[in-house]
Amino acid sequence: MRLENSSKALLGSVIVLVVSLGLASALLPRSYALTFSSDFISLLIIVVAGIACLRNAIHSTGRTRAAWSLFAAMQVLQLGGQALWLYFEAILAKSVLNPFVGDILFFVAVVPAMAGVILRPHLEPSEQDKHLGTLDFTLLLLWWLYLYLFMVIPWQYVSFDEAKYGPPYNFLTLVAGTILSGGFALAGLQSSGRWRQVYATACIVSVVNVGSNYILNAAIDQHTYFTGSWYDMPTAIGLAGWAVIAVVGYDLGPSHEHRDPAKERYWMWSSRLAAPVRLTLPLLAGWAFLDTHVPEPVRAYRVLLTLAALVILGLVATTKQLRLDKELARANQELLEASLTDSLTGVHNRRFFTNSIASDVQQALRSYSPNAPVGARNRDLLFYFVDADRFKEVNDRFGHDVGDQVLVEITRRISTAIRHSDALIRWGGEEFLVVSRYTNREEAAALAQRVLDAVGSEPFLLQPAGTSVHRTCSVGWAAFPWHASQPGALSYEQVLGFADQALYQAKQSGRNRAIGMLPAGLDAGSNVAPDQLASETLVTLGPVVPKEDWPGQSPDIGMSWAPEAT
Ligand code: GH3
Ligand code: MG
Ligand code: MG
Repeated sequence: MRLENSSKALLGSVIVLVVSLGLASALLPRSYALTFSSDFISLLIIVVAGIACLRNAIHSTGRTRAAWSLFAAMQVLQLGGQALWLYFEAILAKSVLNPFVGDILFFVAVVPAMAGVILRPHLEPSEQDKHLGTLDFTLLLLWWLYLYLFMVIPWQYVSFDEAKYGPPYNFLTLVAGTILSGGFALAGLQSSGRWRQVYATACIVSVVNVGSNYILNAAIDQHTYFTGSWYDMPTAIGLAGWAVIAVVGYDLGPSHEHRDPAKERYWMWSSRLAAPVRLTLPLLAGWAFLDTHVPEPVRAYRVLLTLAALVILGLVATTKQLRLDKELARANQELLEASLTDSLTGVHNRRFFTNSIASDVQQALRSYSPNAPVGARNRDLLFYFVDADRFKEVNDRFGHDVGDQVLVEITRRISTAIRHSDALIRWGGEEFLVVSRYTNREEAAALAQRVLDAVGSEPFLLQPAGTSVHRTCSVGWAAFPWHASQPGALSYEQVLGFADQALYQAKQSGRNRAIGMLPAGLDAGSNVAPDQLASETLVTLGPVVPKEDWPGQSPDIGMSWAPEAT
């Protein structure tokens, strides 16, 4: 691997610093000089690691930048802890009091690092996991912080007790570090190439950190630790490791890897954990209340703390629930729309018709009821079957894909011919149904004519460009209710049947025309004998003449082909 000069400088600096620390431990006696140099060298190591992470953040964008910034934030927190340590030992020249005030900084330093891993900088984000993941993560972190406040802080600030402070502090730090190492390992398994190297390095560094911190904390508790002792070496190596991680991950962007949903399930853990974690709170509240072995102030503090945590985590959970509800409603809406839409043409499918027809029929019948205002207009429901003429030839000659293109264009043309309140349904194959609402049968023929014109008067330009083809369509229509004087006598299915028959007639009489069927004796309002109800009259329109004449056109417009481009 070839290294940039800046990377070499960063690596060189941390190596020099770690070696100097070793030399100080080996050569200097236990003294102020040893304490100061050890504390100061450790501080510098953290500074270099922080600079390395910042450099990466500046040189990257998007998620990767966010992750490096979070890793840099981790160094800042560590630096804060170390600076406090240096202040006590070197400046105030006192031994650092155990429990140490800066412990909380060392403890929470793991938080931004975890956030960095959970960001999965090697992947492009998906909106949903960004939002929901953040809330789950926040909830888990708050809970984690709560545990610290519950188990560790009482012995530092509420009822000072060094012996009770150390073990839970060490335990929680160990668990946090282990989880972080596990996070890096998982991320490594889910990535490849250089990102995998970064995660693998981070995993090793994190394991070194966890181990060395645990040993160091245990040594502090047993009073065998002093600054500048050999316990500092592994810790310093762990801190320097962050500079190494940053050098390995310098100039990396998202890997554009294919996202494997099976692997992504690992990240569902945070969501799965969030629920049981909240359930621990009432238990801990109960325990805090009943545990009479602790001093009274600690008991009261713990009960109040847990109640506060219940409220705060409850708020986070409620926010998440609201988001989930919104997400679910949106997804349901999308699914509903998809289930009512034809995937090729984007217009409604037959299921839409099945769902909507009953209310359209009711509406039409209501407007024909005796209570409806006298002389009401726009009361009819019109059904138009539209079928492309000789469409099979398009497929046979140009292939199915081109057939699809033409079908999509036919759909578009039909939709320009109808009104907003009309529903266009792909009935099947190359056949459509237009359901025209709030209209009059007297105007029915005009819409049929518009559809014929829209589809048939212009050639269809095909891809590859230069080729075009003329296609026409045939229309069969009928009006519901069938007869104005007895609106409920025939069902909409029967009227649909008439429209279908009309289409058949249009095909039979040469295609490229519209035929409508109306009850015999058009004068609305006249009474018709029940056995006469289903008799019909034809209204015929068409054919449409193409706007341009195509050389080589056959007499049947429906069959004419445009010349292919030469
Ligand atoms: P007619 O004028 O009698 O309606 O002739 P036609 O060729 O259009 O009628 P027919 O019912 O014999 O054939 C319809 C053709 O439409 C058959 C099928 O290849 C084609 N078709 C149906 N659905 C699709 C589709 O989704 N895509 C394509 N490309 N073709 C389709
Ligand atoms: Mg057809
Ligand atoms: Mg057909």
